[in-house]
Amino acid sequence: MYSEQMYELGSKSSMIREIFEYGKQRAAVVGPENVFDFSIGNPSVPAPDTVKKAIEELVLEGDPVLLHGYTSAAGDMGVRKAIADNINERYQAGVKPELMYMTAGAAAALCSVIRGLACPGDEFIAFVPFFPEYTVFVNSNGGKLVSVGVREKDFQIDLDILAAAVNEHTKAIIVNSPNNPSGVVYKEETIQALAKFMKEKSAEYGHPIYLIADEPYRELVYDGLEVPYLPNYYDNTLVCYSYSKSLSLPGERIGYVLVSPKVEDAQKVYAAVCGAGRGLGYVCAPSMFQFVVGKCVGQTSDISIYKYNRDLLYDNLTSYGFECVKPDGAFYLFMKASEADAVAFCERAKKYDLLLVPCDSFGCPGYVRISYCVQPDMIKRSLAAFEKLAAEYK
Ligand code: PLP
Repeated sequence: MYSEQMYELGSKSSMIREIFEYGKQRAAVVGPENVFDFSIGNPSVPAPDTVKKAIEELVLEGDPVLLHGYTSAAGDMGVRKAIADNINERYQAGVKPELMYMTAGAAAALCSVIRGLACPGDEFIAFVPFFPEYTVFVNSNGGKLVSVGVREKDFQIDLDILAAAVNEHTKAIIVNSPNNPSGVVYKEETIQALAKFMKEKSAEYGHPIYLIADEPYRELVYDGLEVPYLPNYYDNTLVCYSYSKSLSLPGERIGYVLVSPKVEDAQKVYAAVCGAGRGLGYVCAPSMFQFVVGKCVGQTSDISIYKYNRDLLYDNLTSYGFECVKPDGAFYLFMKASEADAVAFCERAKKYDLLLVPCDSFGCPGYVRISYCVQPDMIKRSLAAFEKLAAEYK
């Protein structure tokens, strides 16, 4: 016999993956230039040249035994120090390399944090719309995911809605900003109010409610916007970071967990996170890419193309009458489906080979996600199809 829960996870792929696979099949039939696949969040800009240079240096001049060997379980100390120094320079956060745990991307970071914190009966809150894998990460690592609504006009956090969901079982609140899929960046005043609320609730229930900052899109912001660094606003914060999007390295699986030094019993919480990673069999994050990101601290892929794509899509789609949230960051456009059932709307879009993702599994029925980490040419070619789709609802 096998685990029913794991069977369920393994036998069904996510809606995003299903649409992505459909796109590949469709491209084989009608030609890739005629399929407008906006399904997946794979960066469309290459990693910066510094990444290539770092790889070359490491492979040609580095010690191959060290390069391909195990690092310490938490990651190479030199790499952790380089990252922590850069964070302290940018945010004056006083973070410590001793409280940093290198991981295989944000997915492994989130799983390690959730498993490290979860005790029986614990609840983890996520604001809608949220990355659908949160449901998997939380529910298969000992917690229960609780989805909480936000203010519909701007998708900012609404403390009254949150207050109704927080109780003595609340272990943590996950904050993903810039947000996948809405592209919203939570404002500084929103974060300040959230921090105050969480502090009061932690005192009321007599245990810390942790803030899990899921930050794969931190560097992907437009128009000079600043993303508040959450450990500077709330003490009991654990950051889950990833280089998948900021350095366009999703397949290399590299990121980290950072336990803020201001977390209550930080050393013990950190040990629990490392223990969770050990239990999950992570051993150590990919060694070569630990060294690569260590050499590329402070670097980001050229994101100007994402801003260009955002403007191109937003301006055109709103001119056709679609209702969209203007994204401040990440590379997703969140759009209201033109009928109540977003799945039916996406099926209709398929008629024009427009592949959009319904946001039901993001906790937001009635909306769709459009990933604009694609070539601008594809967007330009797709506009006539969007216009025809809009016309169907006029
Ligand atoms: N969190 C969010 C909000 C994401 O969008 C993603 C990936 O798309 C992840 C976590 C996982 O990222 P990684 O590739 O670093 O595991």
